[in-house]
Amino acid sequence: MNEYDGSEDDADEGEGGEESAHELRISKIHNGTVIDHIAGGHAPDVLAILGIDSATDEVVSIGMNVPSDRLGHKDVVKIEGRELSQDEVEVISLVAPAASINIIREYDVIEKNRVERPSTVEGVLSCPNRNCITTEDEPVATRFEVLDDGVRCLYCGTIIRRRLTDHIDV
Ligand SMILES: [Zn+2]
Repeated sequence: MNEYDGSEDDADEGEGGEESAHELRISKIHNGTVIDHIAGGHAPDVLAILGIDSATDEVVSIGMNVPSDRLGHKDVVKIEGRELSQDEVEVISLVAPAASINIIREYDVIEKNRVERPSTVEGVLSCPNRNCITTEDEPVATRFEVLDDGVRCLYCGTIIRRRLTDHIDV
C-alpha cells in the first residue's frame, strides 16, 4: 500500500493493474479535478503552480511514483472541490507535458483532456529580468514563448529553463 496516497486502496496492483487502479482513483473524488500522468516526481511542481503548499486547507491527495504503463512511473494529484482554469492547465503543461486533466462531478468523469503545450503563455509567469518592461509599474501582462526546454520573454528575450515554478505569478 502507498501510505502517502491518502485513500484506501489506490496502491499499485502490480503489472496489468494500471487501468483498474486508475479508474478506482478517479472514482474516489466527489467533485474536483484529477491530474493524472504527471511524470514521476513532478507532483510538487504541479502543486506549486496551483498555489497548494503546507498552509492549504484544500482537500488534496497525492500519489507519487505510481506504476504506469505509459510513463513507467507517474504522479497523480487529486483536488476535491476545484476545477482548474485554462491558465493553470497551460502552465501545468510546461512541467507535466504528458498530463491528463479529469474533471469530476458527482463521482463521474465529465471531461478528460490531455494537456497541450501552448505556443505562448500570458500573464502567468513573471520575468526575472528587472529591467524588463513587464516588471515595471506599467500594466503590461507578461508574455512568454514556449520553447522545447523552457520559455522566452517576448519583451526582453530572457529565457527561463529551470525552476519555472519559481516564476509563477498567479
Ligand atoms: Zn522580460
